[in-house]
Amino acid sequence: MNTSDASKEDFAHRCDAEDSLRSFRDLFHFPRAPAGKPLYFVGNSLGLQPKATRAAVDQELEDWAEFGVEGHVAARHPWLPYHEEVRATLARVVGGLPREVVAMNSLTTNLHLLMVSFYRPTRERYQIVIEDSAFPSDSYAVQSQLDFHHGRAGFDRDHGLIRLKPRDGESTLRTDDILEAIELQSSSIALLLLGGVNYLTGQYFDLPAITRFARDHGIVVGWDLAHAAGNVNLQLHDWDCDFAAWCSYKYLNAGPGAVAGAFVHERHLRDRTLPRFAGWWGNDPATRFKMGPEFVPVDSADAWQLSNPPVLALAPLRVSLEIFERATMPALRAKSIALTNYLEQSLKASAIHERLRILTPPKSADRGAQLSLEIDGATPATSRLLHERGVFCDFREPDVIRVAPAPLYNSFHDVWRLVRVLNEVFGGQ
Ligand SMILES: *Cc1c(COP(=O)(O)O)cnc(C)c1O
Repeated sequence: MNTSDASKEDFAHRCDAEDSLRSFRDLFHFPRAPAGKPLYFVGNSLGLQPKATRAAVDQELEDWAEFGVEGHVAARHPWLPYHEEVRATLARVVGGLPREVVAMNSLTTNLHLLMVSFYRPTRERYQIVIEDSAFPSDSYAVQSQLDFHHGRAGFDRDHGLIRLKPRDGESTLRTDDILEAIELQSSSIALLLLGGVNYLTGQYFDLPAITRFARDHGIVVGWDLAHAAGNVNLQLHDWDCDFAAWCSYKYLNAGPGAVAGAFVHERHLRDRTLPRFAGWWGNDPATRFKMGPEFVPVDSADAWQLSNPPVLALAPLRVSLEIFERATMPALRAKSIALTNYLEQSLKASAIHERLRILTPPKSADRGAQLSLEIDGATPATSRLLHERGVFCDFREPDVIRVAPAPLYNSFHDVWRLVRVLNEVFGGQ
């Protein structure tokens, strides 16, 4: 594509006509916009509702009405093993073995449950590495883990957290700088917990390289994949990370507060020495209903489950993952790269480029379906103007707009229209 193509509406229509995933858009409800057709670019915050979700939830309500307690076995999707319904599809989305993944709880809860097992600080090795721009919940979670442990382990709480900052004048982290920071303090770092795709800049880290390097230095590696799951191609098993957690309401479209996911690498699944907060749904199903007092963990990620599955909340995740199963991650990622590149090219080819700095890395390999745009004059008021023109996007102080073209339901023509509206609102043309 050259830059003059990018500004033509025809070009967008041609790309859509050639897009093998174009019909997936019809599987989703788009929200009402104040004017015109909605331009939904916040799938990185809350993905759209699949039209099939309502029937799936209704089905569970009907089965409950019809069967009562018998629904545990008699429901169309029996409730007792309901979390099994999403295991295979979830595993494919994140590149884990089926027994390495489980859908449960919410993201921050899972981070804590996994840190109970995988953050075991000693007086010498206790530090946790995060991004300086980590999502606040992740910052709070790791700091409260430090608070929880430092008295007993006897380490220096004030030096417990290492926050990775970009170089002056840069907005994203360089892999070499990350590795150097790890190497510098490798003997005192216990845990590396980064966002696979940074929520603010959209930077997609080199997960395999960082994981390998940190693990070679004896560091436990966990990834927060809130902005990566359903967005980029993940191979968690092959990349050998220790654990990961993600939410399902962003790119995974499973609805507000949806049931989250967790990954634990196979090598830990038989380790009976791991500390763990246990509940009956983590017990081996073969003996679960003997109702004995001794916890016998199942040899899968399910061992971290506490409670019986929340069926009404899992139904939307089941529906959503079936869509991913049909679309497939490699095809979605290919379209996503094309869409985001097209967005970048179109912005650069339009007048707004003079008022714009793109914080997201320029290479496709280093980013997912998101561009973070620092725009001169972007304020909450300009976000309202965008919304009045049908644009759903996200504003961060002081002047950053994040837009995420989601390949399941955004079209090239959506991107073309978005660029036009941005130019209108910011006086570019
Ligand atoms: C969205 C997001 C969260 C949200 O946490 P919840 O527990 O789902 O409320 C946490 N961390 C990151 C990195 C996120 O992007």
